[in-house]
Amino acid sequence: MPNKTNKISIVLPVYNEEAGIKNTIEVLENFVECQIETYEIIFVDDGSVDSSVDIIRHAQSQYENIRLVEFSRNFGHQLAITAGIRYAKGDAVVVMDADLQDPPSVIPNMIEKWQEGFDVVYGKRLIREGESFFKRFSAKAFYRVMRKVANVDIPLDTGDFRLMDRKVVDALSKLNEPEPFVRGLVSWVGFKQTAVTYERQERNAGVTKYPLTKMIRLASDGITSFSEIPLKIVNYTGFISIVAGIIYGLITIFTGISTLTFAISLMCVLSGMIMLALGIIGDYLYRTFDASKHRPQYVVSNSYGFNNHTGNIAT
Ligand code: UDP
Ligand code: MG
Repeated sequence: MPNKTNKISIVLPVYNEEAGIKNTIEVLENFVECQIETYEIIFVDDGSVDSSVDIIRHAQSQYENIRLVEFSRNFGHQLAITAGIRYAKGDAVVVMDADLQDPPSVIPNMIEKWQEGFDVVYGKRLIREGESFFKRFSAKAFYRVMRKVANVDIPLDTGDFRLMDRKVVDALSKLNEPEPFVRGLVSWVGFKQTAVTYERQERNAGVTKYPLTKMIRLASDGITSFSEIPLKIVNYTGFISIVAGIIYGLITIFTGISTLTFAISLMCVLSGMIMLALGIIGDYLYRTFDASKHRPQYVVSNSYGFNNHTGNIAT
């Protein structure tokens, strides 16, 4: 049984967060300083094109336990988290947004559950402050669909705000998927998991870095990597179309009715279905193709603060 002392790494992915990152650093530092004995805060800059990196670099001169990993370009939120947990040296790692939507005050509750013996403590959102109706609705719908179709048990209404024990982090770090869906992978690796509930706050500044296109991509990554149900639906639809076609053919033969218009509309529907099916199969195929290239998941251009062991974290 490992000694569960409070060596905690906090990982925050950052993409163009210049408007709020200074405030995040101050709030987080002030909070964890009096709550956690030994900690490090790892920012992973996901190719920001604003002054986020400069602000974090400046904060490093003020706070000795801040680290920074810089990506060479924007690789995406999920890969920024993946890199951050690989750099983390803590006995437990907490992942949270860099915009204070995940309140630091929940971290002590997570640590408490971890010390009780849980390996993963995920934050379950009770309400979501300041987010559009569309965002709340689409997120709720996505979590419910995901729960129905995924072949792992992904808890409802949980994002990436969670604490993970060292052994979970080590297991996750070995996975090398090009487009990882981290919350699915955390369920996939297993271990003893529990939830703490929290109220998701408004962003402290700036706007969401998850536009609709990125949300769709995340949803598609989640579904294609954890479910074969869309492929089954393609199968069933094909089967139903064949049966319907045969019945329709028999009706026209036996009744002699000419139903050209109906036939044309049927053709449109069927060709649409075929294109849709091809698209779904293509999504799965693309994932295989992507994985077969064996490229590294991301490229790190710089890292700062990791060799400096004068920080609070024990190595
Ligand atoms: N983020 C990132 N890369 C991206 C998009 C977002 O590292 O391509 C970061 C972002 O800076 C934030 C976190 O991931 O810390 C979650 O993004 P955001 O807060 O914009 O998403 P939302 O909370 O609106 O879903
Ligand atoms: Mg956010």
